[in-house]
Amino acid sequence: MALDQIFGSLIDLIYPKRCYVCGSDSRESICSTCVSSFYFIDSPVCQKCGKPTTIEVDECRECRDKSIYFSTARSAAFYEGNLREAIHKFKYDNGKSLGDVFAKLSYKTLREEKKFFNIDMVTYVPLGRKKELERGYNQAKLIAESISSLISKPCASVLIRVRETEDQNKLDMEKRHTNVKNVFLVSKKINIKRKRILLIDDVYTTGATVNECSKMLKSAGAEEVRVLTIARAKIDA
Ligand SMILES: [Zn+2]
Ligand SMILES: [Zn+2]
Repeated sequence: MALDQIFGSLIDLIYPKRCYVCGSDSRESICSTCVSSFYFIDSPVCQKCGKPTTIEVDECRECRDKSIYFSTARSAAFYEGNLREAIHKFKYDNGKSLGDVFAKLSYKTLREEKKFFNIDMVTYVPLGRKKELERGYNQAKLIAESISSLISKPCASVLIRVRETEDQNKLDMEKRHTNVKNVFLVSKKINIKRKRILLIDDVYTTGATVNECSKMLKSAGAEEVRVLTIARAKIDA
């Protein structure tokens, strides 16, 4: 046994790991029982927004009525039950280590999908400076970094949030779109011209935030934007 493994086992003995969701002993930050209770999203889905459909469609009815700037959006599972709780812990309960678990889960769920990870770089939805300082980290960035190492593609901070926004959860559909308008800028330090970009966020609800980010990335010259979120909220629209 290598020295770091011995050291790792000793740490485990002194501080046994627990599942963030149910609290039972677990080697992973979320135990296998909790993971198996997640509502993973299966095909068929709308090829544009990733919403589950009865048959596979290029665009669902909602997508046809909107200007959508990303080429496809996918999520690993529904924002329900234990996954909802895990994401909450991830964001508000110093659950930094969950970033790796979420990245692995989404990678496992989507790696078979039509070259989903065939991209040039990974980026993420930025938080406002104040929020990031308060929380100590950006949850979307943690997932993006982990995905980037899983697929061996660079992760870059491309987007800048120029102002804080109201919490999207408190707003109706219409207001969610106006709330995120002109909130993001593209950094001039990174060349994204003709690049295929994978944009990461934690939860997809109406898609307003990732769509606005995609719009900025595309207007700065990105060839394509694909969106990956861990979870997708069920909404009636
Ligand atoms: Zn558990
Ligand atoms: Zn759709």
